[in-house]
Amino acid sequence: MSTQKTDYLVVGAGATALSFVDSLLDVTDAHITMVDRRDKAGGHWNDAYPFVRLHQPSSYYGVDSTPLGRARLDTDGLNAGFEELASGVEVASYFHAVMQDRLLASGRVSFVPMTEHLGDGTLRNVLNGTHTQVEAGRIVDASMCENGIPLTHKRQFTVADGVACIAPNFLPQHAAKHQHFTILGAGKTAMDTAVWLLSHGASGDQIRWVRPRDPWIVNRSYSQPSGAFYKHILRATALQMASARDAVDISEFALGMEASGLWMRLDPDVQPQIMHGPTLSTAELALLQGIKDVVREGHVSALEPERMVLKNGECTAPKDTLYIDCTARALGHSNTWPIFTPERIGLQMIRLYQPMFSAALLARIEALGGDDAAKNALCAPVPMTDDVQSWIKSQTITSMNQFKWGQVPALKNWIQNTRLDGFGRPSREVDRTDPENIALFNEVKALSMPAFANMQKLANL
Ligand SMILES: Cc1cc2nc3c(=O)[nH]c(=O)nc-3n(C[C@H](O)[C@H](O)[C@H](O)COP(=O)(O)OP(=O)(O)OC[C@H]3O[C@@H](n4cnc5c(N)ncnc54)[C@H](O)[C@@H]3O)c2cc1C
Repeated sequence: MSTQKTDYLVVGAGATALSFVDSLLDVTDAHITMVDRRDKAGGHWNDAYPFVRLHQPSSYYGVDSTPLGRARLDTDGLNAGFEELASGVEVASYFHAVMQDRLLASGRVSFVPMTEHLGDGTLRNVLNGTHTQVEAGRIVDASMCENGIPLTHKRQFTVADGVACIAPNFLPQHAAKHQHFTILGAGKTAMDTAVWLLSHGASGDQIRWVRPRDPWIVNRSYSQPSGAFYKHILRATALQMASARDAVDISEFALGMEASGLWMRLDPDVQPQIMHGPTLSTAELALLQGIKDVVREGHVSALEPERMVLKNGECTAPKDTLYIDCTARALGHSNTWPIFTPERIGLQMIRLYQPMFSAALLARIEALGGDDAAKNALCAPVPMTDDVQSWIKSQTITSMNQFKWGQVPALKNWIQNTRLDGFGRPSREVDRTDPENIALFNEVKALSMPAFANMQKLANL
């Protein structure tokens, strides 16, 4: 078995790995070896369905050093008035270019594709089975937020012979052969699938939607990273914080998020239960509300000829139904682990729903030096959310982390300048002497501590 030496062995070459390494290059002179089972960088984006787009504006997604897109406002379509959202193909080719033109071009990064890490620096080429031992100063596990995707996940239901059930990857190819469509799942992939069908000519009557639990949805107008949205965002934030301060339980908290405009729901008569952070424009939401045939009988267990069996019931189904499997859980776990340990650095979110920002900031924290305990004190891992209570908990941990970053000049300075901080940018772009801006800022500031204190209580922290 051959042996190689490196300062950092990074397991995975998906988005979070690329973001971490991109920043590590800026703040250290380390040599870095990256390894991935796939043949190229970019992780799940290489297998994404053809009509996927980012939930969030491109201008704060990706790696710190390299812009993605041109921060243009869309002028037509369902995202009109908001910043452009890169397509899956654009994201994948962006990450390929980051690997080629930034990481490999630095001369300090090696990439070992088609190879898995078996543990403790042992690598195995998945084609020929040969082993290599890497002696690494640090192992960085960038596989902890690995995504489940419809193309490769293991289905939790059976499909009888002759029943058509596909991953959304094949929808454009198969849709014309069917008159009835059943979307399985209530996450962002299911929403994208429904939007694709409706905006390509299917009517709401042709679509059935299996939603075991209804989702809360983030209104995209509040994640716009420009000063033009500053007042809009602050007005909603002030309303949200006032209701967060007063909410007596989780349900009331969620209704306050909705009343402030930040969260939306698909069905006005059904209060959502899950919160995984899908983001839509109000135009997309209105389109989706055209689907009236919603099945709420729990998870699907079997698809049979002209019959669908669910956990809590069953229903008949037209013969030519095309089922689209959108049941993969994107971020598969809500567990967290300490980030800096003697065995490894485990990349996880340290700001809610911002894995790119989180990975880049973790590289900066690593470069601060000091022991693992001091580093961990700056970055409590933020669990992926499942319901409203877990959202409150993760948002509260995010706020506590942010407070700590503000006390460390090197981190504070980086956050003020990185393209990855889309949330801070609106406030940096506005006229700070404008009386309305000052009043809104002061209102939010005054509300933030009591709101935060009540959120800690609601989250049982
Ligand atoms: C459809 C979709 C849309 C999304 N949109 C957004 C968005 O708009 N904004 C946002 O912030 N996030 C978004 N996300 C979240 C997304 O999780 C992150 O943006 C990011 O792509 C996650 O990258 P990752 O590197 O953690 O995981 P992955 O892309 O899953 O990469 C992990 C890699 O590790 C490799 N690997 C794992 N174990 C090993 C091993 N033992 N040996 C070798 N290799 C290994 C895998 O092969 C894989 O390539 C979206 C996710 C999905 C699914």
